[in-house]
Amino acid sequence: MSGMKHNCGIYAASNDPNLKRDLYIMGISLQHRGQESAGVCVYPGGSFLILKDIGLVDQVLPKLFYEADFKSETGFGHNRYSTQGKSTLQNAQPVRVGRIALGHNGTLVNTAELRQKYGEKYSLRTETDSELIACIFDSANGDLLEGAKRCFDECVGSYNLIVMNSDGDMVVIRDPWGYHPLHITQNGNSVFVASEDVAFFAIGLFKPSEEVMPGEAILFTNGGAQRHSIRTGERHQSCFFEPVYFMTYGSTYRGRTVKLIRDELGRVAARKERNQWGEIDVIGVMRDSGTAYAEGYHQESGIPITDAFNRNRFLGRVYISPEGKGNGPHDVLKMTRRDRAALKNVPIPSLVEGKRIKIPDDSYVRGNTTEPLTRELFEAGAGEVHWTLISPPIRYPCFTGMDHATRRELTAARCETREEAERVISERIKATSVRFLDIEDLKGPLNDRDDHCWSCLDGNYPFELPPDKLGQLKL
Ligand code: 5GP
Ligand code: MG
Repeated sequence: MSGMKHNCGIYAASNDPNLKRDLYIMGISLQHRGQESAGVCVYPGGSFLILKDIGLVDQVLPKLFYEADFKSETGFGHNRYSTQGKSTLQNAQPVRVGRIALGHNGTLVNTAELRQKYGEKYSLRTETDSELIACIFDSANGDLLEGAKRCFDECVGSYNLIVMNSDGDMVVIRDPWGYHPLHITQNGNSVFVASEDVAFFAIGLFKPSEEVMPGEAILFTNGGAQRHSIRTGERHQSCFFEPVYFMTYGSTYRGRTVKLIRDELGRVAARKERNQWGEIDVIGVMRDSGTAYAEGYHQESGIPITDAFNRNRFLGRVYISPEGKGNGPHDVLKMTRRDRAALKNVPIPSLVEGKRIKIPDDSYVRGNTTEPLTRELFEAGAGEVHWTLISPPIRYPCFTGMDHATRRELTAARCETREEAERVISERIKATSVRFLDIEDLKGPLNDRDDHCWSCLDGNYPFELPPDKLGQLKL
């Protein structure tokens, strides 16, 4: 299956006397980027050692560290988020091919082509694009810089990678388009890399970090870290959905804290909807993805803000849980994914009763969140339910990391304009109103320099899509 999508968290440390502790802390800090499996690769001498298992970082790493009892000052880790394919240990990362261990954040577009090229020479053990990238590195005889060059030549799509060879050398690369974030920082002789800099803050490194540049490879050997710009000159394509939804609010995006960017987007939304302020009694906070948007909306409009929902902290990623169709333990509960989504945010009657409530949130994809919540808000006594979605209507599948898989399942796919999407979706979820921002509204707060990927909004893919992907575009 070539449509495996994942948007994971990766992190690394070199020359680090506190390696175990720091890998654990960075892994936990990036848990929001992937909750399905956790793993690390370290170098105790001889060759690398991969430790991984299904589960959360806190359940997986301490136990494996304790059992393996190794010594190493260099290593990297990976939190996996996947939406297709089973959550098997086989698909967990780091993945190993020959003398290469690899952690990958992103999704390749030209998987079928690579599978054809490497599938015969290597007996592939997984269905992941990540294993194919490891084949590219192994076929460069474990020469990491040569592997990086081949990767830049052969791989189309999003790929932030950390790769170790059997000598314990390590290379970090970011794809030439810079789809997903990747940061680097230093503390004395120790160097750290992470998908988001919140991981550096967690190990006590608060000074501003640098970005790994698109098309750059950073080689870690005994001699230290060397940075190589290998493939520059591509037009950058940062995924706008990273700062809007996927990143955690304490991280930095383009030099600015995500929380502040989201506050600003909330203010932008409020300004755009100035003519609606008189119809709203209270702004409801939807944790966690809607919190900063609600605060920004409140800052701009002065409309009171309240915790309209009781947030349940103990339900994981409902968005990707299987739909109740006779194949999962949740079936005995007779609960769909929608029911479970709603359980994460339970309306508090005394705070919403009789109120005309506005709820800002990050995005609408299939309506699994907004539809049941709208119904429950009305059942709890709300007078009117108005939504503001920061992401413009999602109308096309994402091929580079986000889980917006096929056009058919996207409610907004058939809508030509924002206004039409607002009408169609508010009818579908039976809300009083639904409002979206436009791409133009996002550009200022995201510091856009004509270098974002908006393809799930406008269908402008920067690559020619291979034939095996075209089915996902069908309506
Ligand atoms: P919907 O409920 O409309 O199907 O999806 C929208 C909700 O899912 C939003 O509240 C957003 O926070 C979340 N969401 C959107 N895209 C993704 C994704 O790619 N992965 C996950 N886990 N959640 C997402
Ligand atoms: Mg959400």
